[in-house]
Amino acid sequence: MLIDKLDRNLRDLRISVTDKCNLRCTYCMPAEIFGPGYAFLPKDQLLSFEEIEKLASVFAKAFGIQKFRLTGGEPLMRKDLPQLVEKLSSIPGVDDIAMTTNGILLPRYAKELKSAGLRRVSISLDSLDDELFGKINGRGIKVDQVLKGIDAAAEAGLKVKINMVVQKGVNDHHVIPMAKFFKEKGHALRFIEFMDVGNTNQWNMDTVYTKKDILRDIAEVLPFQPAPPNYPGEVAKRYVYEGSESEFGIISSVTDAFCSSCNRARLSAEGKLYTCLFSSAGHNLKEPLRAGKTDDELESIITGIWNARDDRYSETRDELKSSGTSRKKVEMSHIGG
Ligand code: SAM
Ligand code: SF4
Ligand code: SF4
Repeated sequence: MLIDKLDRNLRDLRISVTDKCNLRCTYCMPAEIFGPGYAFLPKDQLLSFEEIEKLASVFAKAFGIQKFRLTGGEPLMRKDLPQLVEKLSSIPGVDDIAMTTNGILLPRYAKELKSAGLRRVSISLDSLDDELFGKINGRGIKVDQVLKGIDAAAEAGLKVKINMVVQKGVNDHHVIPMAKFFKEKGHALRFIEFMDVGNTNQWNMDTVYTKKDILRDIAEVLPFQPAPPNYPGEVAKRYVYEGSESEFGIISSVTDAFCSSCNRARLSAEGKLYTCLFSSAGHNLKEPLRAGKTDDELESIITGIWNARDDRYSETRDELKSSGTSRKKVEMSHIGG
């Protein structure tokens, strides 16, 4: 089994297929920075579907990875994405393909994605209020456009979860309306603590609405019980509403870090492998791939990268911040959360 320096195995690969997005969420790709002059990756720098398939099959065959998650940027901005889903789902041993999306293009693609082998989608929505949501997504997109995507995914037979990034003073008062709405709809809602990913989102600890805050708010109106993880190393803590089968979860990467069980690798759209969401740099897999390295050679490159891994940023965030240490981090839109 592949083990890193802190004894963590590799279980899960997230594949970013584009650094472009049709939204400009203030916490991820603020419009002032990701404006008309921003240099997105040129097409020839992106891994082709065949290259992604080749790397994914090395991950599956050599390391037993059974689960891939497609992300971005906005993954549905990548042309013909269902073709990639089809390629990945035909890799022997792969039994779970998921995608994280803002949902806007799902009415167009949900059925095709499901037929291609996609099983699950996590759809991001931060408020049910049009004005606030329009401000957060930076493009004035209305809530209904995402709700239509959610319905299209469910109708196509995809398992649906909802992601809500909660920012203190921005949308913390929308925790309860969101919880009530998705409890009724029967889709698991995941509250995500606002993180200091990338270099542009003006994060500081005062902007984080914590797991404790969220649990306190929900407990006042909707009683719930903690539920066990679905599998070892699941990042969201799960809770089930009393008298209901609906659940919600909290991803508390800031106030309750889970680095000790972090078994994720992230492949960027340009073919760099990142061993942490907060890495400064990725390991270039596109170069050896394009140089014609064999599967065995790629396996040994990846083994070397994972064996040397000692990332635990979230567990050291406070020390780093209090010592004034800062470093450049990869942007979220490159590796997709
Ligand atoms: N565009 C897709 C979407 O929005 O779902 C996929 C990519 S997006 C980078 C993946 C997830 O990261 C989304 O659920 C988004 O809300 C979350 N995210 C982005 N920036 C974040 C931040 N600063 N803190 C916490 N979560 C963040
Ligand atoms: Fe785009 Fe997703 Fe980032 Fe929002 S969170 S800007 S939808 S990549
Ligand atoms: Fe994993 Fe890095 Fe997040 Fe820790 S900070 S949980 S090592 S991605």
